[in-house]
Amino acid sequence: MTEAAPESGLKIVDGFDLDPPYRALLRPGELVEGLAGHHHHLPRYFYEVPSHEAARDIRLTPHFGLNEFLLVDVKEAPRLRRYPRFVPCAIRLLAFFLERIREAVDAPLYVAVNGGYRSPAHKLSVAATPHMWGTAADLYRVGPIVLRDRASIETYNRVIEDLTDDLHVMPYGEEIGQADDHVHLDLGYVISVPREISEDRLAAPQANARSAFEERRRGDRRGWPREPLPERLPE
Ligand SMILES: [Zn+2]
Repeated sequence: MTEAAPESGLKIVDGFDLDPPYRALLRPGELVEGLAGHHHHLPRYFYEVPSHEAARDIRLTPHFGLNEFLLVDVKEAPRLRRYPRFVPCAIRLLAFFLERIREAVDAPLYVAVNGGYRSPAHKLSVAATPHMWGTAADLYRVGPIVLRDRASIETYNRVIEDLTDDLHVMPYGEEIGQADDHVHLDLGYVISVPREISEDRLAAPQANARSAFEERRRGDRRGWPREPLPERLPE
């Protein structure tokens, strides 16, 4: 029997199997209330990102690295800022849509700090926001254009809305549910259940180790660039 190379895949974690401190912070499957009074179940399945190097080197799409969705500051719970880190499996869907936007505008997109995945313990997670599902991104810059005024934000909001009905954008403004210094886009409360997972149990640990996301091999096959993405995109 040959063992898979450790870097060939990311482990999929059922949140119910996490150690209690992580489970208390990530609250897999719990209901949270959104601003509109609707309730949503938090994601339960996560990729376990073992190290900073893995986050830096793993590419979700040709132009988006996993690390770009994990940029958080002290607003995130300290334990969740250390590796291993956990990110909802739906992050791949978000990256896919960002790649489509990048194609449409033909310019790099820059995700803000705290603008990708935010855990339920994050200080900005006051109500259910798709950031807690890994399905939202805040962009502060598109190519050379800094998104800090009505004209630029409304321009790119329109580009995104023209591209797909699956993405929601926040209108320009200073109120809650609006944005005046970034473009917020999200896919809503999407939960991704990886095919490697069995959903037939509620509390017992998953029987077999699961991993997925063999992006290096897939990347090679698709002719993606091989070099790691930059540590942090230039400001
Ligand atoms: Zn946002």
